Amino acid sequence: MEIYPTRKIRRTYSRMEDTLQDSHVMAAVHDLTSIFGYNSSEIYVVQGSMNAGTGGMLFDSVMVIGDGLLSWLSPSELLATFAHELGHWWHSHMLQNYLIWEAVLLGVVVTTYLLRDYRPLHAAFGYADRPSPWLVMRLAIVYTSVSIAFGELITPLLTLFHMRHEYQADAFAASLGYSKALCNALVNMSGGDVFVVDPLFALYYGTHPSLLNRIMAMGC
Ligand SMILES: [Zn+2]
Repeated sequence: MEIYPTRKIRRTYSRMEDTLQDSHVMAAVHDLTSIFGYNSSEIYVVQGSMNAGTGGMLFDSVMVIGDGLLSWLSPSELLATFAHELGHWWHSHMLQNYLIWEAVLLGVVVTTYLLRDYRPLHAAFGYADRPSPWLVMRLAIVYTSVSIAFGELITPLLTLFHMRHEYQADAFAASLGYSKALCNALVNMSGGDVFVVDPLFALYYGTHPSLLNRIMAMGC
């Protein structure tokens, strides 16, 4: 299941080296990625997107970039963006995310099994004070409840974990001398809006650290 998206990306999107008009920028991207052993032909262009990302893991990873960014960002900002994505790959963030999600799924399955006959849960779903007579129904009732509870409890931790990855990828790009260019790229991608998000809201609904925090962390 985790391998499927990378195959889909390869079949669906065009390689950046076949799309990018500016051969100088492509050569610079190649130089940057090859230092760390990343194959620049594994960078794909997503049509109609203003985002960039990294998928897959270990020896089967791809980077994607929206065609909007290719035309919107300057060459140095583009390189800084790739340096950030390279940071995700270098630190094996995809593998870490995969292991975390598998651990969460295992926790949900084990808890579901342990609570399969927990009467108050079944009573809440209309089975008076006894478990549902069908095993599938018993597991469905408990699995649904346990999944929701796990989601509420773990979402803030996963958000913090994900934000840590973003700071690490930013620091990786900064260590290569791209801090200023990455700050500019982030500001450009946000359209210049440096807004402050409530920290509690960000814990449940955020995906990245705030632009302000990222800029300050890189010392721009
Ligand atoms: Zn990132």
